[in-house]
Amino acid sequence: MSTTTRTRDPEALVAAARNGDRAALARLLSTVERGGDPARTVARLVHPHTGRAHSVGITGAPGAGKSTLTNRLIEQVRAGGSEVAVLAVDPSSPFTGGAILGDRVRMQDHTLDEGVFIRSMASRGHLGGLALATPEAIRVLDATGHTWVLVETVGVGQVEVEVAGAADTTIVVVNPGWGDAVQANKAGLLEIADLFVINKADRGGVEETRRDLEQMLDLSELGDWRPPVVPTSAAAGEGVDAVWDEICRHRAFLEAGGLLAERRARRLADELREIVAGRLEQRARSACAGPDYDRLYQSMLDRALDPWAAADEIVGALVDGG
Ligand code: GDP
Repeated sequence: MSTTTRTRDPEALVAAARNGDRAALARLLSTVERGGDPARTVARLVHPHTGRAHSVGITGAPGAGKSTLTNRLIEQVRAGGSEVAVLAVDPSSPFTGGAILGDRVRMQDHTLDEGVFIRSMASRGHLGGLALATPEAIRVLDATGHTWVLVETVGVGQVEVEVAGAADTTIVVVNPGWGDAVQANKAGLLEIADLFVINKADRGGVEETRRDLEQMLDLSELGDWRPPVVPTSAAAGEGVDAVWDEICRHRAFLEAGGLLAERRARRLADELREIVAGRLEQRARSACAGPDYDRLYQSMLDRALDPWAAADEIVGALVDGG
């Protein structure tokens, strides 16, 4: 390991990672995961170098075949000669560092390829959790020359949907079978999908699921882009080229209409609001402790102050305190 990668100095790490030092890049992502001041320095340093990567979110129920599909998509990107990074986002395992995910099959397939960078993300103390740490990690990967960033989520909880939906192109993976399309609708996946993949097409029942999805799309309010529905057998690699074609078509669609810039601007605005709200919430929580708080709290218990009046005093002190 080089001396550069032992450092925790964000400036040195960013410079090294932009020069292709993968260990430095891994450290940068750990810094982002941990949050705090070093993460903010990383954010400041990488932000000016971003905007080139296209992010692709991949979500769907556990076992639907997201990892298998991601693995196959890596091959597609590499065949085109671009560098690709994969972020496997796992909110359910904050303390394992998501290592389980990273060690899955695809790792072994691509470990020798310098053009592929794979990393699991867990929320370790980042204020705002993965919903805020993920876009930051994507920017780090963008600034270090990865033209494609695939963001795979483990399941379909609220955070996963949020994370996958915050990509430039979002893929929802379902399986053939009665009700899967309906489940996708319930989980709010219909709104975020730019592309549906019916994986495990080798099992049959694809046409029913496709019909269900198309019917639901007929009933939803769509803009100029109607999400295509693509059957795959990712395990056998079948249909993956069609998925890749649709991803590229969606990218071209967004770029041509100026929609990509619009989408990204909207996401940055959302992010900014989240950061502000998170900071204020943190301050609000710390204001609910200490001697002044105890005094107000006691007055409220003694019925000298109602909860609203007590809150007025606390918030007033916060605002006056600057
Ligand atoms: P994830 O949890 O969504 O990431 O799903 P995985 O990619 O780990 O796949 C779950 C299981 O489904 C694994 O055993 C895969 O081998 C299997 N699988 C993936 N794609 C296909 C497919 O196209 N057909 C069949 N029959 N099995 C598949």
